[in-house]
Amino acid sequence: MFAEKYFVGLNADAFVNGAELYRFKQHETSNTETETWHKVAKDLDGQQVPYAEMKAKYGERSDIFGKTDGMHIPEMLIDEVNCDLYDAVRPIKWVDPEVDGQEKYDMLVIGGGAGGLVTAAGSKGAGARVCLIERAFLGGDCLNNGCVPSKAFLRSCNVVHSAKTAAGFGVEILGEIRVDFPAIMKRMRQIRADISDNDSAQRFSKNMGVDLYLGHAKFTGDHNVEINGKAISFTKACVATGGRPNIPDIEGLKEIKYFTSDNIFNLTE
Ligand SMILES: Cc1cc2nc3c(=O)[nH]c(=O)nc-3n(C[C@H](O)[C@H](O)[C@H](O)COP(=O)(O)OP(=O)(O)OC[C@H]3O[C@@H](n4cnc5c(N)ncnc54)[C@H](O)[C@@H]3O)c2cc1C
Repeated sequence: MFAEKYFVGLNADAFVNGAELYRFKQHETSNTETETWHKVAKDLDGQQVPYAEMKAKYGERSDIFGKTDGMHIPEMLIDEVNCDLYDAVRPIKWVDPEVDGQEKYDMLVIGGGAGGLVTAAGSKGAGARVCLIERAFLGGDCLNNGCVPSKAFLRSCNVVHSAKTAAGFGVEILGEIRVDFPAIMKRMRQIRADISDNDSAQRFSKNMGVDLYLGHAKFTGDHNVEINGKAISFTKACVATGGRPNIPDIEGLKEIKYFTSDNIFNLTE
């Protein structure tokens, strides 16, 4: 079968055990490589797309709508910078690996946030057959809604504070200090996109050889999960599904546009 070129070799140099890794050739020519979020951005540049509008706006071009449900991705800001991020951490269409339902994974990881990615990479490096399932964006809170964007934003705040208090340090600033909020937010999103390759679908599936599924995992037994209608069995599992913002029960809140860490970093003005 190898001679007939059903498989393509993967670069396994990064692994201590140096094992040769292979992937079905059919997965090399997935829609992922022909359709991209950047193509969607040509039509929707700068638009915030809430979940309810995703089906109408790009339901035909992406499988994101069918593989998740409302609360997992409350909205997406479609612009060129975010499309770099999305193309890395949630390709517009994703072909799941083939499974026959019989062969077990040594390690199943649910959740592609900081915890899940480290577990998947570590298990793969130790020679395990690994399955990783993520229903929203690889990188989870830390890359998308947490550590990275908040610290990038706070860095700008620190600069403003330093400028405003510069006189106390013996530094005279001549002229007005102006804060350009859209530029601060764009810088933050650019930083997020620039480092997103570390957590990307490409890196984990093709470079590391982890079997990556994008969708919502459901346990169906002690050693079984269902993902996108497929049955998967495993020996050990790591549930790294993180947390979500708690929405307080405040009267009228649901009728207005409110912000949590899931959408505040999409602000542009
Ligand atoms: C604003 C903010 C700032 C922060 N700043 C810092 C900081 O400076 N330093 C720091 O150390 N920490 C910080 N944190 C906390 C840090 O982001 C979290 O501790 C960390 O992201 C948790 O990682 P995790 O892998 O456990 O979960 P997550 O990152 O939440 O990942 C869980 C993943 O599981 C997926 N998932 C859930 N259920 C399923 C399912 N059934 N099927 C498939 N996938 C599923 C989710 O989509 C998600 O991507 C911050 C958090 C926030 C919100």
